[in-house]
Amino acid sequence: MTKPRIHILALGGTIATRPDASGVMQMGLGADDLVAAVPLLETVAEISAETVSRVGSHSLTFDQLHALAAKIRGLEVDGVVVTQGTDSLEETSFLLDLLLDLQVPVVVTAAMRNPSLTSPDGPGNLLAAVRVASNPWVRAHANALGVVVAMLDEVYAAADVLKVHPTRINGFASTQTGPLAALVEDRVVPMSLPVRDAMVAARKRLGAAGSGKAQSVALLWTSIDESGRMIEAMVAAPDKLGYRGAVIAAMGGGHTPEHSTDVLLRLSAAMPTVVSPRAGGGPLLHKTYGGPSSEIGLRKAGLIWGGRLHPLKARALLETCLRAGLDRAAVNEVFEGWN
Ligand code: ASP
Repeated sequence: MTKPRIHILALGGTIATRPDASGVMQMGLGADDLVAAVPLLETVAEISAETVSRVGSHSLTFDQLHALAAKIRGLEVDGVVVTQGTDSLEETSFLLDLLLDLQVPVVVTAAMRNPSLTSPDGPGNLLAAVRVASNPWVRAHANALGVVVAMLDEVYAAADVLKVHPTRINGFASTQTGPLAALVEDRVVPMSLPVRDAMVAARKRLGAAGSGKAQSVALLWTSIDESGRMIEAMVAAPDKLGYRGAVIAAMGGGHTPEHSTDVLLRLSAAMPTVVSPRAGGGPLLHKTYGGPSSEIGLRKAGLIWGGRLHPLKARALLETCLRAGLDRAAVNEVFEGWN
């Protein structure tokens, strides 16, 4: 039986670190090093590998991810594995999912424990990712699954996966929907397919989003007794400090402090402003609570409703919409799909 051709693209991150002379971990390993550390890969797939960058994922840019998506689109392989850092994996996998509409699996993986620690998870996660990309069920459902994330023997949908711990080996979870598949022995055990109507509709609306220019989107977390002066400064500044959109990580079902409602509405008048759940995802309310800074008031005032999208994913989606030149009504339509 011929083995599937899987191309590994290495971006950097903990999985690709090595100690410097002082013992501090630095970016350094390339794709070939990662492959060489896992001889079993060759038994699963016909592997090719490419080092795209050697950067921490906390320093990746939207432009780099658009370039990565273009590179992936140009590959003639049966599956793709992206290795990167864990810090921004919940954002990068979501953006890649939005930008790619492929018939072959794209699996993102990383490592929580660096290669100098006891039981580093990088090699195991890379093998798992290649197993997932090579698996017949995953390949048959590649388009329906979209970009997936393989970490610690579980497979997650890009729209839902979150980094839930800064250091622990089980640092990832899909808190809303649970894993799509599990890895056990040498098998990938399918468990569910994600609901992706909103993603499919968004892609349709976005069209050739890749060609636009990067747009600055502010991410503003709400909390009790926050004065709103940061927003005030943005709204009052010439050219709005360069921001073209904002995501408000709102409390509960979509609520913000009442005393800063006025400035929030001025922000929304100045740029598309999306309200998203700071609780970490899960649908926002539409019609339960009254008052100017509850969901009914904010929706009526024109705030764009992020629905079940985590603020980090909402920000990536808003940047993509603005980059593609969508007007406010079209942005609203895209986000409504997640409600
Ligand atoms: N700072 C690293 C990164 O995201 C952390 C990691 O990979 O876990 O690249």
